[in-house]
Amino acid sequence: MTDNALHIVDLQKRYPTGVEALRGVSIDIKPGEFYGLLGPNGAGKSTLIHCTTGLAQPTGGAIEVFGNDAISDYAEARQAVGLAPQEINLDHFLTTEETLDFHGGYFGMPKRERRERTEELLETFSLTAKAGDRTRTLSGGMKRRLVLARAVMHRPRLLILDEPTAGVDVELRLELWHYVQKINQEGTTILLTTHYLEEAEQLCNKIAFIADGQIVAEGTSEVLAERFGVPNLEDAYLALVGRKELSRSHVEVVP
Ligand code: ADP
Repeated sequence: MTDNALHIVDLQKRYPTGVEALRGVSIDIKPGEFYGLLGPNGAGKSTLIHCTTGLAQPTGGAIEVFGNDAISDYAEARQAVGLAPQEINLDHFLTTEETLDFHGGYFGMPKRERRERTEELLETFSLTAKAGDRTRTLSGGMKRRLVLARAVMHRPRLLILDEPTAGVDVELRLELWHYVQKINQEGTTILLTTHYLEEAEQLCNKIAFIADGQIVAEGTSEVLAERFGVPNLEDAYLALVGRKELSRSHVEVVP
């Protein structure tokens, strides 16, 4: 048992198809950290998140969330986690308000607290005018904001963001950055996966590279760059995926 927000030891996941998605992953995320998990498609990022949130059963190893085993103490472990998944998985028949309220109810929040928290989050995410509208009528950006609001509704101590800004416009990306940075500063631990290296650089105090189901390197973006003998995080990532030739330092600027 540890004091870490997330303590993963030798995690293995072999799907029934025989695919070994995780091959002995160990990571420790300390309370208050903003931790980035970067890697190419198919590296095992979603599988790691699914194992942590009970959506997939590991085939080996251990996961603890704030000292609670993710399998044997599932309820306690899950209570501490907020998940904003990659795909927008809202119930189309619920209103914006019900989406938050039902989530709060599922996590055991009393009615009054749910009402207050819903109001606060609708305001924070500029969704107050849409409170009574069914989620299917919201714009893409509004749905993305609601997914994040729902993830933080029960005030999780660990927030997991799985590519939260994929396909969103610049304003919304920056809005989301401001919000998650704020709650991180207030004490929420964050695990972020992203394909945007500047996003990881901007937000994360620690970054791990995952490839082919294994953690290959971990540290600040400076440490990772040094580890790969390159000047920045993007070049380190390109080295990781074996595509050094794509480095921007090779792109000629046409006068
Ligand atoms: P990432 O999130 O980094 O893109 P995933 O965790 O989605 O990676 O996938 C890791 C590997 O596991 C890939 O080879 C993927 O095809 C496989 N995989 C993911 N989900 C399943 C599943 N439900 N059944 C079988 N294989 C899966």
